[in-house]
Parts: sequence; C-alpha cells; structure tokens
Amino acid sequence: MSTHIPPHEAPCKPWGFRTLAVHAGQSPDTSTGAIAPPIVATSAFAYDDFEAGERRFNGEAPGYVYSRFANPTVAAFERKMAALEGGETAVGFASGMAAISASLLGLLKAGDVVACVGTLYGGTDGVMRSLLPRLGVTVRHFRTVDALRAGLDAGTRIVYVETPSNPTLEVMDLAQVVQIARQAGAISIADNTFSTPYLTRPLALGMDVVVHSATKFISGHGDATGGVAVGRAELLGPIRAAGMGQLGGCLSPHEAVMLLRGLKTLPLRVEAACTNAEALARWLQAQPAVARVYYPGLATHPGHGVAAQQMRRFGAILSLDLRGGRAAARQFLDGLRIVTQAVSVGDVDSLACHPASTTHHSVPEPVRLDNGVSDALVRMSVGIEDGDDLLADVAQALARV
Ligand code: PLP
Repeated sequence: MSTHIPPHEAPCKPWGFRTLAVHAGQSPDTSTGAIAPPIVATSAFAYDDFEAGERRFNGEAPGYVYSRFANPTVAAFERKMAALEGGETAVGFASGMAAISASLLGLLKAGDVVACVGTLYGGTDGVMRSLLPRLGVTVRHFRTVDALRAGLDAGTRIVYVETPSNPTLEVMDLAQVVQIARQAGAISIADNTFSTPYLTRPLALGMDVVVHSATKFISGHGDATGGVAVGRAELLGPIRAAGMGQLGGCLSPHEAVMLLRGLKTLPLRVEAACTNAEALARWLQAQPAVARVYYPGLATHPGHGVAAQQMRRFGAILSLDLRGGRAAARQFLDGLRIVTQAVSVGDVDSLACHPASTTHHSVPEPVRLDNGVSDALVRMSVGIEDGDDLLADVAQALARV
C-alpha cells in the first residue's frame, strides 16, 4: 500500500539553516489561515465513496487514510526534517529507538551482517546485541574507523555509526565511513542525535540514512518523545512500512507539533549551548579533581581534527572522568544545584547523569569498560542557562568531591 502523502512543494530552496528551521515544511493553513500547524487529531480520514477508498489504498489517488501510516501534522515535521538534513524524504517515529529499530528491521533480513563502529547508546547496543542476533542477523563491532576499514567484509548489509557517540563523544569520520561502506556494498546509517543537522549533515557527506532521537535537541525542551529517519525514498519506503505499518511505532500529531515548534529555535539553542559547553570543557580540563574531559572541541580530544571538519561547532554534550571513581561521580552529581540529574540530553536545561548506572547499565560490564564508560564517568548535556551560573554550579559541586 502507498503511504498517501499528498505532494508538497519541495521546501529545500537554497535558504540558510535558520530560515529552513522556521519555514521549511510548513505554511499557513489554507482553510483557516492558522500560522501554527494545526494538530490533526484523527485516527482515520474519510473518503467520499467506495471507489475513492479503494483508490487511496492502492495508491492510485493521493490522500490520507489512517494516522498509523501518515498524518498531516506528522508530515509537516517530516518535511521540515528532510529539509534540515538535506534528504529526499523523512519518516517520523514515536521515539528514537523506534526510528533506529525500524531502520534496521526495514532494511535487514536473516543472514545479513551489520557492522557497528565505536560506542553506541545503550538502547541501540541492546538491539545490536540481543534483538538482531535473535532474528538471524550477525552484528560485528569495530572500535574505530581504522578497524572497520581493516575488517569489514564485502557483502555487509549495514554500517551503523553514532557521532559524537554516547557517552564518550568519539567522533567518527563520516566521509571515511561512507567510503568503506560503499566499497563493501553496505548501506550506511548515522545516528545524528548528538550533533543535530545544524552541526553535522551526514547525508551531504554521503551517508545513506540519518536517524535521530527527536526527544533530544530537536524537541529541545524535554517535553516530547519522538524519532525520525531521513534519506532517499527507496530506503525510507521499507523503513516506513516496517516501522509504522507493521511495528506501529508512529509519531503522534500531538508530539509532532511540539517537535515542529522545537525545530524553529534549534540553531539558536544549539549555538548558545555550544558556547556554554566549550567554556565548561576548558574550565573542567584545568581542575585537579578531573582526570579527563571528553569534548570534541578540546585540542586534546582524539577526534578534534575530524570534528573541526565535519561539525559547525563542537556540540553541547561533554563527559568527564572524575578522580575517585564511582564515589566521586556520586558526590559531584548529588552536589549539583542548577544542573538537574536526569538521563536525557539536548534540553534547554542542563542535565547530568552517571552512564554506567543509568543509560548504559544494560551493556555488559566488560564491553562498557572497553568502550570507556567507566564508573567515574559523568555525562553532561549543557543547556542555555547563563554560562557563569553553570560554571559556578559545577565548581561548587566539584569542590564537594
Ligand atoms: N540515540 C541516541 C544517541 C540517544 O542518546 C538515545 C537516547 O538517549 C536514543 C538514540 C534513543 O532515543 P529515544 O529515547 O527517543 O528512544
């Protein structure tokens, strides 16, 4: 069955990112003039007669039929995301994990091989380590892009990468990943959640599919859960069919409207948060209680050179290893006052968490430690508060360690 999205004017004119963020994919409602996108809260869409219904279902006539397949509010979010990522089309999902699972399940079959590079978000790691192998898919893990180049088999179906990675902020050279994947005949997928399309555009570097947890910077305010996959229609068709039609992980129009609103200020929020994160990372690096700071903007970060090339700025997330292990991490986190202890990232509020006991608790310990997620590691998602207030808060919490 077709997805029944009415044809729309391509939003991808040569506009700047901020103009795209505000205008792409949406225009005032033709019937009411409403500037904000109407929330089309309906499960089904009426058709005039028997024949009209049949023609919509077999794809001969355009028009929506059922919100699990497509919905006008969700479609506006999808158009805006496609424009911001520079992709042909996008599909909205109920969460980042729904987008990731649909992208994998939509493109894989039993007997296929997936290659992952670097550290992955704990939920994604779980899909790779437990779900896919149960379905007859072999998953291989490579620590670095060099290891991928040396070990990737021809015939691998998907190369999957996260950049910067969660929570150790490894930066993967996407242009190189693309080259290696193409040589092996593989589809390349990038999780662009930590970068956002404002900082990195993986499709322009040749990646085939971009996935996001839209719950993070795209929403920006911690009040919506969603996901999205962007890329060429030939790949997004099976991803939509698996993820929405079959698994039913569709994005609600109520969430879509929150994500559309969040996207309007994405570049402004990310700029402000990057400024705060850069200052905080530099300051933390000079503190004796801190053993190591993971932030691509620091010249000491192994991925700094690649980040300078493929990112507009260095992002709003940093991690730090405290001297004193888990106890020090606990004292530091419990001492924070402005920064909230919580596991999400990308909100206007600064958030911090202890990955080993939260986001990555389900990753087997040897794998977790091998990936650098130590018991002393704290991840911070830096928000848009006044930079000196944030620094003062972090300083007083660090003084307790
Ligand atoms: N990808 C990354 C990099 C994440 O950090 C997360 C969640 O933290 C996800 C995907 C999953 O997104 P969601 O929580 O919206 O399902």
